[in-house]
Amino acid sequence: MTSDCLFCGIIAGQIPATKVYEDDLTLAFRDIHPAAPVHDLVIPKAHHTDMASLVAADPPLASAVLAASAEVARIEGIADAGYRMVVNTGKDGGQTVFHAHVHVIGGGKVVGLPG
Ligand code: AMP
Ligand code: ZN
Repeated sequence: MTSDCLFCGIIAGQIPATKVYEDDLTLAFRDIHPAAPVHDLVIPKAHHTDMASLVAADPPLASAVLAASAEVARIEGIADAGYRMVVNTGKDGGQTVFHAHVHVIGGGKVVGLPG
């Protein structure tokens, strides 16, 4: 838990979110500004700044986030039609929330990029 982190606040239940999936290590919830009919965010419950930092510090947790992202696509009913997993990293990558996350985007033709 990092006190000034938005996504840590969602994990702690201090900030509301529409949860889609949760397990011991990860949480998934709807993006507040969806870029497509389905747009969810999948995060590790432990705070890491971005996915590069996460995979360096804890490869099994990074793997769990990817597995949860695929599960979220199944839950949302877009696994067969196809979808995007997007990872924005750093300022030039369009990252705005500095808690590692994967965007799961689909449910129609995906146009452009989030962030
Ligand atoms: P990124 O630009 O990759 O850091 O993505 C951050 C995402 O978090 C953006 O797509 C935002 O729309 C989303 N976001 C910001 N605040 C919230 C919130 N309170 N609940 C859900 N999603 C949020
Ligand atoms: Zn955090």
